[in-house]
Amino acid sequence: MKLILMGAPGAGKGTQAEILSELLGIPTISTGNILRAAVKEGTPVGLRAKALIEAGSLVPDEVIIGIVAERLAHKDCQNGYILDGVPRTLGQAASLEAAGIGIDKVIDLEVSDEAIEKRMTGRRTCADCSATFHVDFNPPRVEGICDHCGGRLTIRKDDMPETVRHRLQVYHAETEPLLNYYGERGLLAKVDGSRSLEETTEAIKAALEI
Ligand code: AMP
Repeated sequence: MKLILMGAPGAGKGTQAEILSELLGIPTISTGNILRAAVKEGTPVGLRAKALIEAGSLVPDEVIIGIVAERLAHKDCQNGYILDGVPRTLGQAASLEAAGIGIDKVIDLEVSDEAIEKRMTGRRTCADCSATFHVDFNPPRVEGICDHCGGRLTIRKDDMPETVRHRLQVYHAETEPLLNYYGERGLLAKVDGSRSLEETTEAIKAALEI
């Protein structure tokens, strides 16, 4: 199963990707998580991406394509993968297609901008393993501590309200056109992402017929 999870920032892509990854036994490739790890390690890619990420702007396509191609070459991607947060531009989608990177289905998680802005203020991200939680909708077992690795939960700089608004503008301008792109190829399934985490998972499973 080769999947793309699409949707605005905060639509629940990362959370649903984690659940599906476990369910299907295939890895999630999150360019956001890979970039944040690169920033933390101070690699050349990280140095290039840091200011763009903090401003909520997109990292150049060629950097993203390099990251994805490198990650997909790993053995664990042989039986499928879930792309979370990539592609985000028509250029990225075209590059993936040109590189022969196959896609079976694209799930679009639909959530209104108003709901996104509310959700983002409660989002918490593990500083160590990047797992995400929400103080109300998906709380960790122990406040401030990651369920998976015991790491410290933090608020991402780009989850600040001003930056979230900019990220939503970027999403509508750059990423939304991909819905037509994949719709025309018969790969798109739209799922209401505004309901509870569990209901959204069930709706995705129905769309994937699993
Ligand atoms: P995310 O965790 O997916 O919300 O990504 C966080 C930030 O990383 C984005 O706001 C961008 O700055 C950068 N980023 C992640 N994935 C991509 C991508 N596919 N194309 C361009 N920039 C990206």
